[in-house]
Amino acid sequence: MRAYNFCAGPAALPTAVLEKAQQELLDWHGKGLSIMEMSHRSKDYVAVAEKAEADFRTLLNIPGNYKVLFLQGGASLQFSAIPLNLLGKNQQADYIHTGIWSEKALKEAKRYGDIHVIEAGTELDGKKAIRAQNEWNLSDHAAYVHYAENETIGGIQFPFIPDVKAPLVADLSSSILSAPIDVSKFGLIYAGAQKNIGPAGLTLVIVRDDLLDQTKPEIPSILKYADQAKNGSMVNTPATYAWYLAGLVFEWLLAQGGVDAIHQINQQKAKLLYDYIDESGFYQNPIAKDYRSLMNVPFTLADASLEKTFLAEAEKHHLLNLAGHRSVGGMRASIYNAVPLEGVKALVEFMQDFARQNG
Ligand SMILES: *Cc1c(COP(=O)(O)O)cnc(C)c1O
Repeated sequence: MRAYNFCAGPAALPTAVLEKAQQELLDWHGKGLSIMEMSHRSKDYVAVAEKAEADFRTLLNIPGNYKVLFLQGGASLQFSAIPLNLLGKNQQADYIHTGIWSEKALKEAKRYGDIHVIEAGTELDGKKAIRAQNEWNLSDHAAYVHYAENETIGGIQFPFIPDVKAPLVADLSSSILSAPIDVSKFGLIYAGAQKNIGPAGLTLVIVRDDLLDQTKPEIPSILKYADQAKNGSMVNTPATYAWYLAGLVFEWLLAQGGVDAIHQINQQKAKLLYDYIDESGFYQNPIAKDYRSLMNVPFTLADASLEKTFLAEAEKHHLLNLAGHRSVGGMRASIYNAVPLEGVKALVEFMQDFARQNG
């Protein structure tokens, strides 16, 4: 049987997608070979790649003046690729700091330019929150403003899209496709695939055309968005199987009714879990209500010495990967698109029983 998997990443994939991949594994569409064994330049593979991009564009309603790139190296390589691509004409960038991922991004960017850090973390009644934009001191002449829309480890998410003069660059690794988003408000969006898109090994970048000519001269061509765009993300061999699987996930998502439909379910899932945590008196979430992540729900138990027991019991109930990030401890349930409402119901029931027995 398949358990409910609350892993933060690599994360749950829809069972229907894995079954389709399994069916097609040995003999893709009667061609006598696996998609994994095909040249990335073959007509068949290019059609698969193009279909994935078209479906992704449909799902997010991406305007025609944006390129979509299917790259490698994870979101973490984008921490370098972004400044190398965008700081060629203007060395200055603003980085909004709200947690561990935005901090990693800004640390890397500091190797390449003049990085102005805006500390946007704050507290509301003892819970973590994000400062309103009128409290940020943005630079007048930044080449771009970077932020992590959803901090996967902290479980804190922006309830608003920053309204800035400079192009807005967003790390959407753990929130892409979970809710509708107006792509036209961004200069660049990037996301590692292994949270809400597909398997690890693939990174998606959505970049506005006018940002393709601002590269630093030393940039490796494999990191250069303009070169990747010109070559259909095939400057070298792309992650062909991960790209194919992402395409199956996009087809699945369209069949569910698209991003609006999955967003409804995601809201139900999150409400169920947060409401129970709040009323339990046994579990706690450290984030102020308006800033809680739709996808990553960290929580602690009334008695931290029960954590190991909690995890072991959860596993017996086929509820997997509920340990918090190694840097922060506690628990975390990641409830990405592929985790069904029934999975969250099963988790809440288990948490109720556990609290009753140990509270
Ligand atoms: C997981 C994650 C990353 C890092 O992704 P890799 O693909 O492992 O490099 C970066 N940012 C956010 C918000 C993430 O959730």
